[in-house]
Amino acid sequence: MTPKDRPPKMDPDILPPLRDVIARHDLGARKNLGQHFLLDLNITDKIVRGADVQPGDSVIEVGPGPGGLTRSLLRAGAFVTVVERDARCLPALKEIEQAYNDRLRITIGDALSVDETDLFRGHGTQSIKIVANLPYYVSTPLLIKWLKLRDGDQPVWGGMALMFQREVADRILAKPGAKTYGRLSVLAQAASTPSLLMHLPARAFTPPPKVESSVVLFEPKALPADLLAALERVTAAAFSQRRKMLRTTLKPIFGADTERFLSTLGVTPTERAENLTVGDFIGLSKHALVDNPTR
Ligand code: SAM
Repeated sequence: MTPKDRPPKMDPDILPPLRDVIARHDLGARKNLGQHFLLDLNITDKIVRGADVQPGDSVIEVGPGPGGLTRSLLRAGAFVTVVERDARCLPALKEIEQAYNDRLRITIGDALSVDETDLFRGHGTQSIKIVANLPYYVSTPLLIKWLKLRDGDQPVWGGMALMFQREVADRILAKPGAKTYGRLSVLAQAASTPSLLMHLPARAFTPPPKVESSVVLFEPKALPADLLAALERVTAAAFSQRRKMLRTTLKPIFGADTERFLSTLGVTPTERAENLTVGDFIGLSKHALVDNPTR
């Protein structure tokens, strides 16, 4: 076992069982908030180990709900900031805050509109991790938002471990030529190094969702913010009509130069987006930047 594989020491759980917490605070799951709770601390501990959370790390968790994953993060010795949209969870989270003194900070609000730089303030950047069992209805916009949180070329976070519905995880990890390869695959793989931690069956959650879920780990990857912005435009155009040739779909970006740019990169202009590598897309985006940064 290398030091990286070695699990951080978990203190014993000092709080009442999550089912009791949910019953006492009347936290019946709300579908519209994507509430599917993880009540098995073995699973939440495994996510924390996968995220390589070490004592003293700063972690942002979105959607703590009754706090199962939060407890595992705290037991691993992390300083945790949670952002929860459902104010009903506040009393349960306050109990955890009391048990762990000054290591939990609670923000009630919408993670989509929260300013992470405020949450990150006062922390060293590279040790910050984002760990979450995400509400599925906002998981993709949240991922894109976090991939774009950069200080120069580097992400402002040092790693992420995020639970998605399996179909979204498949798209994040897909390789060129696969049916699931698309814009999300290119953006995620250009701006980070994603890998699969584990799949989880629906029965692992209370209440169970209709689909399987997967935890994906993200390692930071250098990519200038303006190049990522160009990549967003290029991939939006390229995948707007999957079955069309790139010389057609990329015309709104490169105009009359489309075929020449594609040829310069060694890409056949009649090729389709689903067969281009992430490197091809980055090459195209560099052209989009150099030749017309505003287009
Ligand atoms: N972390 C808990 C667990 O693993 O048991 C709950 C995970 S549950 C899948 C998603 C959580 O995200 C819920 O607590 C829900 O209220 C919260 N949530 C939903 N939309 C949110 C948003 N826009 N911002 C912050 N939290 C949100």
